[in-house]
Amino acid sequence: MFRYQTGGIGLSSVIKLLLLLFLLQLGSALSPSLHGWQGLLNYLPLHTAMEVGAIVISALVFAVGWSVYQKEGSGNLMLLACCFLGVALLDFMHTLSYAGMPDWVTASGPEKAIDFWLAARALAALALFSVAFLPDRLLTKRQSRWWMLISVLVVVGLINWIVLWHQNWLPRTFLEGRGLTPFKKNAEYLLFTAYAVMPVRLFRKTRDPKVYDGVCLFGASATMAMSEVFFTLYADVADIYNLLGHIYKVIAYGMIYRSVFINSVELPYQRLYQVNRALRASEAKFQAIINESPIAYLLYDDQQRISFLNPAFINTFGFTMADLPNWSDWWLKAFPDPEYRQACLSHWRRHLQRVGQNKLSLAPMELDVCGKDGRKHTILINIAFLGDAFASQQVILLQDITERVETMQLIWRQSYLDPLTELPNRNQFLDKLAQAMNQARKLDQRLALLFIDLDRFKDVNDALGHVSGDILLREAGKRLREAVGDSQPSPARLGGDEFTVIIGDLENHPGVDAIAQAILQSLARPFDLGDETVYLSASIGIAFYPDDADKSAELLKKADQAMFEAKKQGRDRYSFFTPEMQRIAQNRMRLLNELHGALAKQQFMVYYQPIVEFPSGKICKAEALLRWRHPDLGMISPAEFIPLAEETGMIVDIGEWVFNTAAQQVKLWRQQYHPQFQVSINKSPVQFRNERYDREHWPRQLRQFDLPGQSIVIEITEGLLLEAGSLINEQLLTFRNAGMQVALDDFGTGYSSLAYLKKFDIDYLKIDQAFVRHLSAESSDMALCEAIIVMAHKLGIKVVAEGIETAEQFDLLINAGCDFGQGYLFSRPVPADEFDALLSQLDTL
Ligand code: C2E
Ligand code: MG
Ligand code: MG
Repeated sequence: MFRYQTGGIGLSSVIKLLLLLFLLQLGSALSPSLHGWQGLLNYLPLHTAMEVGAIVISALVFAVGWSVYQKEGSGNLMLLACCFLGVALLDFMHTLSYAGMPDWVTASGPEKAIDFWLAARALAALALFSVAFLPDRLLTKRQSRWWMLISVLVVVGLINWIVLWHQNWLPRTFLEGRGLTPFKKNAEYLLFTAYAVMPVRLFRKTRDPKVYDGVCLFGASATMAMSEVFFTLYADVADIYNLLGHIYKVIAYGMIYRSVFINSVELPYQRLYQVNRALRASEAKFQAIINESPIAYLLYDDQQRISFLNPAFINTFGFTMADLPNWSDWWLKAFPDPEYRQACLSHWRRHLQRVGQNKLSLAPMELDVCGKDGRKHTILINIAFLGDAFASQQVILLQDITERVETMQLIWRQSYLDPLTELPNRNQFLDKLAQAMNQARKLDQRLALLFIDLDRFKDVNDALGHVSGDILLREAGKRLREAVGDSQPSPARLGGDEFTVIIGDLENHPGVDAIAQAILQSLARPFDLGDETVYLSASIGIAFYPDDADKSAELLKKADQAMFEAKKQGRDRYSFFTPEMQRIAQNRMRLLNELHGALAKQQFMVYYQPIVEFPSGKICKAEALLRWRHPDLGMISPAEFIPLAEETGMIVDIGEWVFNTAAQQVKLWRQQYHPQFQVSINKSPVQFRNERYDREHWPRQLRQFDLPGQSIVIEITEGLLLEAGSLINEQLLTFRNAGMQVALDDFGTGYSSLAYLKKFDIDYLKIDQAFVRHLSAESSDMALCEAIIVMAHKLGIKVVAEGIETAEQFDLLINAGCDFGQGYLFSRPVPADEFDALLSQLDTL
């Protein structure tokens, strides 16, 4: 509730005033000289003036109280106002009836004036009494003030009628020559008593936080009480007491007016002022918040006219009030693309509807908008619901989340995109594959997964460097995207030179073969890497959902297996997954696992195959060939497990063991059979590439075994010479320096480059069994063999023919001038003890 604050006159001032008036009264009453002040000169005009003053004040009390009707105004105050209209009318009659005044309706005189006087005083007392004692807010209904007014006018009319025409009905109040009658005096005493009680009550009310000025009313009633005392004292209507009574009365009325005025006029103004101040403070506060807020605010009215843009709006989007007269202008300028604008608008309208229905703010909408400079912003937009009272004003909140979105996109790109090709990375691919499989499951469709591996990418990377390798991969990614087209999910890069493509909804799309073919063709086009142009191919493995697998990881594995098969079949092709592939892959997996412990479990053996000298057929050398005797799987061919050992690097330890075993064996045979006996040991390129490898290791081992270098021939492959870096070169040189010889194995199947033969000091060429297998007198293989032999001899290289199974092949090769031979015709590879037997049976050199 609003607490009343006195409009200037405090309780203490009023009490001081009352004290002054009381002392004045006491002094005047006790002063004997004053009693003689009778028949004051010109009292009539003075009286008239004072009464006019009192009448004006009473009329003002009415006018102010009546017209400034407030909701929270006390009904008692309205009663006070209405009564004071009556008081004004009665005092008016009293003034006109005063002794000495011209006749007014009936003859003027003290008796008539006193009757009106007493009636006026009684009515005033009644009015103050009602304020003091009636419960507040008793008469607060609007129409009750009319009833009050009419009642007061009726009472006043009645009093006038009685006093003017039926004065004889009233008791006498003044007797000419004798002064006031006891009735009049008693009446004044009664009024005094009534007035004297009121201040006590009103004093209490001064401390109540009521809506009216109790202090002034308290002062007024006390002053009226004192005024009444004067009216019991006068003997002559023109004496000093009568005058003082009138003065006190005017003072009291003045206070009543003040009370009414404060309550009705000053108080509301005061309140308005305070509310205004609070409003301004609150507005300043919100203005500061809105001006400093990083959130952009826009206000528009029910005519869609934009009435406010905060600094954040102007700074973020660059638009000012001049750019955006209307809300619709914002839509036009912030959404230059009409299609997107239309979509956003209908979305926004639905949002507004929902806000309107719920009368609540909902989660904001996310939109992409353009600033004045054309820069794109991602924003969260919402409307603030102000309540129905403010329905004509709409507040739009726009939060610029561009930075947050860009950061999120960056994080997303980093975790889901391959930075080199900008294709989806493994993470995203796995997600997409799972989604595509889910959808295929729901729609009962098939999908294909293509696993693409670039052929010999490693060679390009090693030969031309990583920068060129990166350019190539980027270009490959681009070509893949073009080959696959937009109707399918984007290809992904799993890492290295491995890519994948998902083809969904197979029934409604071009065949998988067509897409695989398109990919192969696109990758077969030359790659321009700046200084170099590179020709490449790819191998593609294809697996189907649900035919081959219904789990994504399994499908990927099977496509990978199929890719492996495509590589095996000669690369630059695609191959579909078959159960056979899976069997091979599983087998491979098992072998890989078993291989780990094989050396420690002593499951390896070295077999020896004799190499015979032509044309004598005497055994002069042996090739050490590794065997894996698995307790469950039996004898496992090196063709099966050596690639695995190479892949895992295990070949280094295994090769070491083969070397030691073969070296110790050759020592025995040299001692037992022939001091020049030689053993060939196959050495994998992986062993050469091993950087930790100490190249002096084998020569040192030989010295330890007390074996000359000549006892060992190292068999290497052609591929090794091709990639020959300084590491390999140095090793070959070390072997040579140690007296060891070098044989080039499987000659004719690879590059068969004559340049390499010249460059490296090769002692033997081993013609691959593929040329020997179908050897006949007129065959092209014969011609090739002859050519190789002639060429090798020209370069000072001796030739060993592998895989001789028949006497015919043996003869043909002897005739061609071949130096050595190896094959089942002479012996299969056998364990050392069997070889011992062979050596003792057959002729050795
Ligand atoms: P390779 O070095 O070319 O060995 C000759 C292969 O031909 C041997 O196969 C041998 O058994 C086979 N062979 C010999 N004469 C005939 C014949 O008349 N007819 C037929 N059909 N085959 C014949 P194996 O022992 O299965 O070895 C296969 C390959 O495994 C070897 O080919 C070699 O590259 C590799 N290898 C064997 N042992 C080792 C080793 O200790 N270390 C390394 N790194 N590789 C080895
Ligand atoms: Mg060999
Ligand atoms: Mg060979």
